[in-house]
Amino acid sequence: MPPNDLIPPSYRDGALRMAEAIREIDDVVVASHVNPDGDAVGAMAVAGHILHSMGKKFILYSGAGLPRSFSFLSLPDTVRTSLESPPLAFHSALFLDCNEPHRLGQELAGRMAGLAGVNIDHHPGRGMGSRANWIFPQAAATTQLMAYVAICLGLPLAGDIAVAVAVGLITDTGGFRHGNTDADALSLMVHLTRNGCNISRLRDILENDWTLDRMRLWAKLTSRVRLERGGTVAFCRVMSDDLLEHQCAKEDIEGLVEHLRRLRGVRVAALLLEDSRQTCKFSLRSAEGSNVLAAASALGGGGHVNAAGGTLRLAPALAESALLDAVCRQLDRESRTIPLQGN
Ligand code: 5GP
Ligand code: MN
Repeated sequence: MPPNDLIPPSYRDGALRMAEAIREIDDVVVASHVNPDGDAVGAMAVAGHILHSMGKKFILYSGAGLPRSFSFLSLPDTVRTSLESPPLAFHSALFLDCNEPHRLGQELAGRMAGLAGVNIDHHPGRGMGSRANWIFPQAAATTQLMAYVAICLGLPLAGDIAVAVAVGLITDTGGFRHGNTDADALSLMVHLTRNGCNISRLRDILENDWTLDRMRLWAKLTSRVRLERGGTVAFCRVMSDDLLEHQCAKEDIEGLVEHLRRLRGVRVAALLLEDSRQTCKFSLRSAEGSNVLAAASALGGGGHVNAAGGTLRLAPALAESALLDAVCRQLDRESRTIPLQGN
């Protein structure tokens, strides 16, 4: 490994192990989770650039394709939306920002058995790589982990790689606002800035690209927000007709759940999105000290302590009560464990 103070001591062993694991694989499918966010796309981009620079054969895969909002990212290859007759007979895989097979999408989850898998992720979990795993929840973003791996492989964090790393850091920290914005993430961002990344410009591209339809949709949805549990829970339900009416896509409600968290006194923001008649997707965000991962896990979902989500195979009305019930139970549990003040 080149001498590099950029890799904090607690990350070194994992980064070196992953660099070694990547050296050993070839004919790789690179994939992250369904409904990819900036970190998932960024991590795929970094991985693609790493494999390309090493002369390895690879394909990038994302079942539903990438959201339009990340089309500005420069990827080393097109992203394939199907694994049927791929241009490469892949027999190894890099799973990024995801450590649950079902979150990769059915097509890839069903083909994992025969693959030499390497899994790099910052969601808590066990890891699903048959060859190697680096599951490191302290990292702010998976692109942070990928940056350290790139360094171990002798690649400079500049150009397209730097931008992809920065996009993961910016989106997963909410623009350096969330609790995962620690000194290590900031040090890495300082380095990227020195190498030409412009945070302000990237945030501008990522955040200030709304259509008027999207703004009208938010106006409608925010007018519908409800407070529950004495004002500690904010809730909003989004029906597929809302999106249709405003000619919006699912990605247009990205950020709405964080917006609900702005309300005074709210500890948990909960958003429910009707996906189909019998399926709803939910998103939860919490204030420091409240654990929405526990609430999401109780409903079969996952994520992080302050940002979690999942899918409920229920019609919207039932999904709504299941979601609010799980959130309120978790908050009740937490309020019982807070030590009483005084003597
Ligand atoms: P979002 O609410 O933005 O979709 O997701 C918030 C966090 O929860 C992200 O870290 C995301 O990966 C995770 N997450 C969302 N949906 C699911 C799910 O169905 N299962 C698991 N395990 N994690 C999820
Ligand atoms: Mn992530």
